[in-house]
Amino acid sequence: MTFGQVLGHDRQKDLLRRAIASGRLAHAYLFYGAEGIGKRLIALAFVRAVFCQNGTGCGTCSACRKVDHYNHPDLHILEPDGATIKIEQVRAIQKELSFRPLEAPKKICLIDSAEKLNPAAGNALLKTLEEPRGEALIILLSSQKERVLPTIRSRCQQIPFHALSRPLLQQALQEKLGLNESQGHILAALSEGSFKKALGKDKDLFLEQRRELLKSLTALSPGSIIALFKLAEELSSDKERFQEILELFQAFYRDLLLHKQGMPENELVNIDLLEKIHRVAKRESISTLLAKLEAIAVSRRQADRNVNKQLAMEVLLMRLAA
Ligand SMILES: [Zn+2]
Repeated sequence: MTFGQVLGHDRQKDLLRRAIASGRLAHAYLFYGAEGIGKRLIALAFVRAVFCQNGTGCGTCSACRKVDHYNHPDLHILEPDGATIKIEQVRAIQKELSFRPLEAPKKICLIDSAEKLNPAAGNALLKTLEEPRGEALIILLSSQKERVLPTIRSRCQQIPFHALSRPLLQQALQEKLGLNESQGHILAALSEGSFKKALGKDKDLFLEQRRELLKSLTALSPGSIIALFKLAEELSSDKERFQEILELFQAFYRDLLLHKQGMPENELVNIDLLEKIHRVAKRESISTLLAKLEAIAVSRRQADRNVNKQLAMEVLLMRLAA
């Protein structure tokens, strides 16, 4: 991808473009910011722009194509092996970086999930960062910057990345997935500015079944125990989707709360269910909504552990129906 093909992050792109144009690249960069917002794509576009035979990251020269296919001899990618990045991996990269570049003006090492460098690996890497060689460039990526060794951070030029704005994400989702405006809005609102998250969402559940699901949920009353147990059984039978169903409940109750507090409708997730939101919000108060959101949060935490899902859902539905 070229810089232009990656969504958003205009300031970061500018800064990197100017660094290349002026020949003043840092020896090491740390790109940090939430998961799935495009740091790695920008890093790869950056590598392409540095390596490109036409100097633009054109996408058609052999250097660009090799970067795209991850087979450029001067691009080295370091990723966690299991839970951590180990010292042997860092040593192997250091050996590579000690040679001259084969085809490109520089050798670049991209370290993904830099917070996973274990202490020994981090200290080994530090040596390379302390004695930079002119032809080596290191790009670290992290969604948990504070967990990267401070001594490593301080030797990098740090570039923050921010979540994509909702309108930008919405527009891209509509174009990419052929969604209509309200579908794009809902998916973007549920994805917290992460394109990766948006693309990973189960669209059938989040766009179509959501309406049915919220209908069944809001139809429950404290007295309808049989209906409540039946719904709990249904919702907990799909273990894979359990967490996502809770996420939908959370978004709905959050909408009710925002509506209650007079937020503009465009801030809500369920923009296609405004009538329901108005109706249900009438029978709730701020404090009942906060209690229900807390109950959902508890269930979400429980769902990560190995609890009985059906029982957890029954308890939650009773609280939500109250
Ligand atoms: Zn090119």
